Amino acid sequence: MVDLKGYAGKVLKINLTEGSIETIKYSNAVLRKYLGGTALGAKILYDMVPRDIDFDDPKNIVFIGTGPLNGTSIGGSGSVSIVTKGALTGGATSSQANGLFGAYMKFSGFDGVLLTGCAEKWQYLVLENGKAELRDASNLLGLDTYEVTDKLREVHGAEGRTASVLSIGPAGEKKVRWAGTFLDHGHSASHNGTGAAIGSKRLKAIIAFRGEGKIPVYDQKLLFDISQKMYEDVEYFRGTIGGVANMWKSQSGALPVKNYSTFDWGVSDEEIDTYVEQSLRDKYQIDRMQCWGCRLLHSTMFEIKEGPYKCHVEEPEYEQMAAWGPATGITDVEATMMLSGLTDRLGLDNNEAGWLVGWVMEAMEQGWLSEEQVGFKTGFGDIAGAEKILRMVADREGFGDLLAEGVKRASQKLGGKAAEAAIYTMKGNTPRGHDHRNRWAEMFDTVVSNTSTIETHMSAMSPDAQGPANPMVISDEVARTKGLMQLEDSAVTCRFNTRMNHKRLAEAISAATGWDMSPEEAWDIGRRAVNLLRAFNLQTGISKEYDRPSPRYGSTPIDGPTEGVSIMPHWDRMLENYYEKMGWNSEGVPTEKTLSTLGLEWVSDDLAKLE
Ligand code: SF4
Repeated sequence: MVDLKGYAGKVLKINLTEGSIETIKYSNAVLRKYLGGTALGAKILYDMVPRDIDFDDPKNIVFIGTGPLNGTSIGGSGSVSIVTKGALTGGATSSQANGLFGAYMKFSGFDGVLLTGCAEKWQYLVLENGKAELRDASNLLGLDTYEVTDKLREVHGAEGRTASVLSIGPAGEKKVRWAGTFLDHGHSASHNGTGAAIGSKRLKAIIAFRGEGKIPVYDQKLLFDISQKMYEDVEYFRGTIGGVANMWKSQSGALPVKNYSTFDWGVSDEEIDTYVEQSLRDKYQIDRMQCWGCRLLHSTMFEIKEGPYKCHVEEPEYEQMAAWGPATGITDVEATMMLSGLTDRLGLDNNEAGWLVGWVMEAMEQGWLSEEQVGFKTGFGDIAGAEKILRMVADREGFGDLLAEGVKRASQKLGGKAAEAAIYTMKGNTPRGHDHRNRWAEMFDTVVSNTSTIETHMSAMSPDAQGPANPMVISDEVARTKGLMQLEDSAVTCRFNTRMNHKRLAEAISAATGWDMSPEEAWDIGRRAVNLLRAFNLQTGISKEYDRPSPRYGSTPIDGPTEGVSIMPHWDRMLENYYEKMGWNSEGVPTEKTLSTLGLEWVSDDLAKLE
């Protein structure tokens, strides 16, 4: 690995129980097969993690990985992919964050950091010019993700873009099951409790310096030309912040309104205009905060200068605007942005937060939850109540301790009507922020996924797979496009830049490494990750019966454009077809033939033991 182009040459392995630091060097053959990020993390997870442990067992691992494109001229190549046994599903997790950290970790000399064990006292890690050192983090405890970033920069005298910080917030310290991991100000890898897993190891942060390091690539000019073509493909992109306004105006029914209890958000024409992308930029944008190599208009800083929601916040994504707008019945855009920033600062996942708070609001309005249980009265549109719930969760205070377990566990513990109204997959994660009853492909993908979030994207599918129609086409397309996202997350690049385009990614990987990689070989790297993560999950007990939505998630809309139309009558047939197209048997287990086609013969024996 050390002589390979495109790589720093080694992965750091840190045993926090012992305080030991060593390096792993992967061979050319291993890297060509697993590349980095998600696929390499899947292999490490599969090889190292006992199937019967919980996320906070010291034997769990957290792999923070990059790939051969990070730190190069490819736009958005400062990302990382985090792989662990997740806190919500108990199964595999693959979650990504963009920014600078992935590039700086490589410039510091490391393609990834593999965390094992659990420290006796809180630590943070310093990566600089080929050196790695653990230091005491006791004075960082309790700081939010913005504060810890600023504090570490200050302590280390890092100005401007000379260093990048990966951190967890107070929620990660308290092992909230839906705590995420954050890069600098607001970039998050937040699914399935990556922050809880890092917190369980008592690691508060990692600071990586830009330093003098360089990543050698095979053909610099060719890689630069490919970067330029990639940029020309996506230069129209202006972030996702305006998605809520666009969807509301189109009345497509895809917004996640009030815990699926209605289609009507109740926002006025005047209010919805404040959610429009250009008006948000004109009024609040103060600075740009580009990720490594990115030239797109995205990831800027916003400031609300006065009023009750005064704050300094990274440009919220669609998901955050949806969580703190329609999902919770809030129509004040400044409150929406404040809550988005607060969720990031506390180190929580905005998706899970929106579903959870919306569910609590509906349950109290309906009388399924009492004021005494929660500690105060709340309901849709209650901004102060939403803020209070977030803070209680991050502190595991009062009712927040139950909510810190996530929507599925909290609702099942409460039982009754409240449990019936909760939105989650049977594996235990909540979906992204849409009403998937109008986006069947995304619901189907979310539910059958083995990473705790979507495994593919509707943009890669045929037009016939969009919307609530054509169930068999949808299951065909979800299966056909599997592996593209995992390839990108193994590369590890920003989706807004590389768009799951496996042809361009194969060209870029070849230019960076000197391998002559075909698009099909590249796609197989992603398919390998999908099958390995599926095999891992099956061995943890996540079997076919978990490939279903909760009753409310799979419910029939009572109003809106698809009133009375449900995916559920088609579900079993879709699943059967999906398994077949994936090369899995009728129980959703990858067949020997599928595994051997992908060079995963050795997994077959493990799966045979399940029968
Ligand atoms: S598109 Fe946005 S998230 Fe992606 S690399 Fe550029 S600034 Fe970062």
